[in-house]
Amino acid sequence: MARVYNFSAGPAMLPEAVLERARTEMLDWQGSGMSVMEMSHRGKEFMSIATRAEADLRELMAIPANYKVLFLQGGASSQFAMVPMNLLGAAGRADYVNTGAWSKKAIAEARRYGTVNIAASSEAEKFNTVPAFDAWQLDSGAAYVHYTPNETIGGVEFHWVPDTGTVPLVADMSSTILSRPVDVSRYGIIYAGAQKNIGPAGLTVVIVREDLLAEPLAGTPTMFDYRTHADNESMYNTPPTYGWYLAGLVFEWIKDLGGLEAMGAINQRKAGKLYAAIDGSDFYANPVDPACRSWMNVPFTLANPELDATFLSEAKSEGLVTLKGHRSVGGMRASIYNAMPEEGVDALVAFMAEFERKHG
Ligand code: PMP
Repeated sequence: MARVYNFSAGPAMLPEAVLERARTEMLDWQGSGMSVMEMSHRGKEFMSIATRAEADLRELMAIPANYKVLFLQGGASSQFAMVPMNLLGAAGRADYVNTGAWSKKAIAEARRYGTVNIAASSEAEKFNTVPAFDAWQLDSGAAYVHYTPNETIGGVEFHWVPDTGTVPLVADMSSTILSRPVDVSRYGIIYAGAQKNIGPAGLTVVIVREDLLAEPLAGTPTMFDYRTHADNESMYNTPPTYGWYLAGLVFEWIKDLGGLEAMGAINQRKAGKLYAAIDGSDFYANPVDPACRSWMNVPFTLANPELDATFLSEAKSEGLVTLKGHRSVGGMRASIYNAMPEEGVDALVAFMAEFERKHG
């Protein structure tokens, strides 16, 4: 068996230890005589898996007791709608920060339900930075402030948390959740699609402060009302059981590694090595302001784009795959989420140096 280093932005690598454990438990989960996929979501076996996963996530992120953790479907993209539907309320307006492609999608969706004020944007800087907080034009009457702490395509990350006072802060943490410690109490809602740092696609985690669970906009479908899921332990309907189980295995894996402090140190080191390789050469470039470079998604270009295809094919033959940049930006992108081993980053850095030597 030859597993590759997969730099996909998502679905992304899962920890090998998690896949091994899932394989061991595939046909017969802990003496139940069935796989997790075949279990009733209301049976005691799955209930124990679900409860354990939530407890471990709460412990990892130190989630305060006044927050609900929801295990949903529909991806982060459904949250682009669920957030405004549930939070806009009487105010009818919200502040959004535009730092790139994913912010824009959240903004476009929110506009269907209310008034969106763009409190800050880095569009004029080609999304290569995040807007300085002192220039944000926040509306004290906004129902919430939404931002994207890590832009998966642009490779731009906030290394600080905006202080929005009493206005709830909502974060699309899809591509940064669990990559480092986070003070959950600073947020009203944190949401994330699972397929980067949590588990397989099909599961969406939402962490919501209880006082924000209120009457949604008229006409909101039952499944889009946070209260439906909060009141039913995410079991109003059939939840994505296998994804929930695998997420639980990932949470255990992070705990065994030392939790989010340890994870953050590893991620910072991995990213540091890759940016150093890019910055140390005229052959490679990354356009992002060094103060807001992502620890998770590292876009880079070759000085000669005619070599892109050769780069990708030679990398692939070294077991370094899915390095092609997003179709909207071209070049390369190395996504180095939690499950990418440090050896994978080392192998990429070594390959890049060798490629430059051969073709530079
Ligand atoms: N937000 C961000 C920051 C993302 O990276 C992605 C997926 N790449 C999404 C939202 C959309 O997530 P999903 O595919 O789960 O709807």
